[in-house]
Amino acid sequence: MTFALRFALRCALALSGTALAQDALSRPAVGKAFAYLEANHEIHLKKQIEISQIPAPTFAEEKRAAFMVGEFKRVGLKDVEIDPRGNVLGWRRGGIERTLAIAAHLDTVFPAGTDVTVKRKGARLLGPGIADDARGLAALLALVEAMNHANIETTESLLFVANVCEEGLGDLQGIKYLLQKGRFKDKIKGFISIDGTSPERFVNRALASKRYKIVIRGAGGHSWGNFGRPNPAHALARITARFADVEVPESPRTTYNVGRIGGGTSVNSIPYEAWMEVDMRSESDSELERLEQKLLAAVERGVKEENDFRAKSGSKLEAEPKLLAVRNGGATPESSNLVQSMMGAIRAMGLKPQLEIGSTDSNVPINMGIPAVTIGGGGRGGDHHSLGEWFDPEGAYRAVQQALLALLMYDGKQNP
Ligand SMILES: [Zn+2]
Repeated sequence: MTFALRFALRCALALSGTALAQDALSRPAVGKAFAYLEANHEIHLKKQIEISQIPAPTFAEEKRAAFMVGEFKRVGLKDVEIDPRGNVLGWRRGGIERTLAIAAHLDTVFPAGTDVTVKRKGARLLGPGIADDARGLAALLALVEAMNHANIETTESLLFVANVCEEGLGDLQGIKYLLQKGRFKDKIKGFISIDGTSPERFVNRALASKRYKIVIRGAGGHSWGNFGRPNPAHALARITARFADVEVPESPRTTYNVGRIGGGTSVNSIPYEAWMEVDMRSESDSELERLEQKLLAAVERGVKEENDFRAKSGSKLEAEPKLLAVRNGGATPESSNLVQSMMGAIRAMGLKPQLEIGSTDSNVPINMGIPAVTIGGGGRGGDHHSLGEWFDPEGAYRAVQQALLALLMYDGKQNP
């Protein structure tokens, strides 16, 4: 940021968020960056497609990470590296060492072998991961390009991150490493994740969730010859039936899902092992706790019923509930500089800000007391996490303009 711009933003401290945004908007450098983003919309869209077509299942993001290393260098980020956990890092240093991290996730929910070719259908782009989160990665690059083009400097240093392990069983390991173990963990005092599309909705609250794998083990045997022994698959069915009847409140919203079941070796064998994976989420920590207890009780009860029913066999099943992942709840307060800056920027773009709860990379900093938001990268998208995922790019550049505005409003309030 130029001295004049920084000075003007400082003077505007007393102004309301919207006035502050208007003030920033009137600066020539900001106008120049905005014009650049609009003019290069198609080029940034092509980059998004290119990124989306590089497979990046969770735990196998290397190929896309390597591509992003090249891109981070191309847009002029400094000290580009891949950290020991696989996150791609690149710097745009400011006047001080205190750092705002701006991240988008590399990984997708789609397994290796999925056709990730992007197709056009009318105004829409179709492709697994095209919105979540190829859009976020493309927006990161566009943001840096626009700041460079307009010679915008910041007070705080900016660390751009293309991170691993946001999805599925990745358990947010990428951002956990960055903020809890990585070399720069003590410098990062703010966090923005660009994830998905929606420009007016952003996440400042962390949704608590727990994921379990329930494994049931027994003696197994021949379906005819050993009939009468307790069956892990039957126990799993008893457990699922019981758990599926659990009533949860609409508010605070609480949900559960048996997402995968498996086990056994053949149709004519009693399985020696059967398993299921369960996802539970709630806006309330206590409701989540209650739901977890119901699941564990259902496991105990289901196994006991199956064992009791087959008691004559003298054989018994055992259950092992394994906690796979925990995400704690929490919030970045609405009054915080980061949330206020984001809201001000959204209003300045003529939209109505909507604060949301979500399970995103921001859960990690929020739980650590670091202000964090997850924002959209622009355009419209839908059917995320399905093979029919789509992205409508109309006006998508406006969300990047908005992110830049929010960034400058936030940075303008950071004292060197
Ligand atoms: Zn995502």
